[in-house]
Amino acid sequence: MSAVLHDEPPNGFDSLPLSSSVLTAVARCGYRTPTPIQANCIPHAVNGKDVIGQAQTGTGKTAAFLLPFFQSWQPEETIGPFALIMAPTRELVVQVADEAAKLTPHPDCRAASIIGGQRLKSQMSALKRGAAIVIGTPGRVIDHLRRGTLSLDRVRYVVLDEADRMLDIGFRPDIERILKRVPESHQTMLFSATMPPPVMRLTQRYMIDPVHVNVAPKVVTVDKIRQTYITVDEDRKFDLLLRILERDQPRQAIIFCERKKWVEEVYFMLRGAAQRSACMHGDLSQSLRNRIMRGFREGKIRFLVATDVVGRGIDVKNLSHVINYDLPEDPENYVHRIGRTGRIGADGIAIAFVTPEQGERLTEIETFINREIRPEHVDGFEAARPRVKAPAPEIKPTSPVYGRRAKKYSNRL
Ligand code: AMP
Repeated sequence: MSAVLHDEPPNGFDSLPLSSSVLTAVARCGYRTPTPIQANCIPHAVNGKDVIGQAQTGTGKTAAFLLPFFQSWQPEETIGPFALIMAPTRELVVQVADEAAKLTPHPDCRAASIIGGQRLKSQMSALKRGAAIVIGTPGRVIDHLRRGTLSLDRVRYVVLDEADRMLDIGFRPDIERILKRVPESHQTMLFSATMPPPVMRLTQRYMIDPVHVNVAPKVVTVDKIRQTYITVDEDRKFDLLLRILERDQPRQAIIFCERKKWVEEVYFMLRGAAQRSACMHGDLSQSLRNRIMRGFREGKIRFLVATDVVGRGIDVKNLSHVINYDLPEDPENYVHRIGRTGRIGADGIAIAFVTPEQGERLTEIETFINREIRPEHVDGFEAARPRVKAPAPEIKPTSPVYGRRAKKYSNRL
C-alpha cells in the first residue's frame, strides 16, 4: 500500500485530471477549490487505483469519490449500473444521492437510490429506466439482487462510505455477498473518518495495492468543537435542556437520546416548549424521515431530537450545538455525534448530560478521545459526579450500531 501525505490543495479544479463536462458540473455547484481529500484522491482514482480515503464528513469526501466515476462515464454507456455506492444509513444514501444529482455531468448519468422503507416498485422503475450509479444500504441492495431487479454485472466502481462501519461484523457478511456479484476487475474506494487497525487489515481482502489518503485529524475529536459536560440527575435533564436552549440560543441543535422511546418522550415535552422542533428515529416512515432531514438541512427545523440514526455522516452546515441528552453507550458514537457540528471552517458546541452514576462512562469516552472534557456548572443543576480515576478502562471492541442488530427490532435506532 502506498501512503500519500496530503499536499496543499492546488488552486482550482482545472488542475485535476477532469474533463470539461465534469468541470462544468463542479463550477455549477459553486465549488472553486478542491478540498484536500478531493485534491489528493481524485488523481489516483481517475488513474484507476483503489483508494482508501480517510476524511471526516464535511470535508467534501462525497465529491472525492463521485467525480472520478463521472470522469469515467461515457454518454454511449446506457445499461448500467456501472457504479455501486453503499452506506450504512438511509439518510446517508439520500445525502450521497443528492450530491450525485448536483454533480452529474450529463442528464443521462443518473443515480438511483435504493433504501428500505420506500416502495420497491418506484425503485424498480428507477433501475429499469437505467441508472449509471446505484446508491443503497446493503440490506436493500441484497433484496433487489434476490428479486432479480438489480444486476451488478457491469459494475466497475465500488464505494463503501463509512467503511469502518460497513466492514464491521454487523454488515460484513452482506457486503461480501454483494461484492461476489460484482465483476472481479472493479475499482474499490473505501471512505471513512476512522480506520481502526482491524478494519485497515480487512481492506486487503477487497483492494489491490490501494493508495491511502489520510486527511483526518490525528486526534479523533474535532478540535474546533467546544466540549463540556454537565452533571445532572436523571429527572432534571429536561429542565436542564430548556435552560441550555434558553441560555445559548442555538442556531440549530441535535439532541441525542439512546433509545427511540426516549426520543419520543423528550420530543413530546420539547414541542410544547420550543417551536420548530422535530424528532428522528428508525420507526418513522421513510417519507417522514426524508421530510425531516430536508427541513433540518434547510433550517426550518431548529431542534432535532434523535437517535444515532443521524449520528454518522450527516452534513448540516448551520448546526451550532450537539447535546448528548443521554451519553452514548459506545464511546465511538460520541465522536460521530459531536462531529455533526464544527463542519468545514465552522465551530461548534457539544454538551453532554452526565448523571451521577455515569462517571465511568464519561471516563471511557475521555479515554477514547484522549482528552478531558471540561465540566460546566449550571446553577441549580449540580449533581455529584464520582470521577473514576485509574485504571483507565480497556476500550472494548465497538458493538455494531447499524447492520444485523438493527435489522432485528432494535430499541436504539
Ligand atoms: P461531504 O464531506 O461530502 O459531506 O461534503 C460536505 C459539504 O461540502 C457538502 O455540502 C458539499 O456540497 C460541499 N463541498 C464539497 N466539495 C466542495 C468544494 N470543493 N468546495 C466547496 N464546497 C464543497
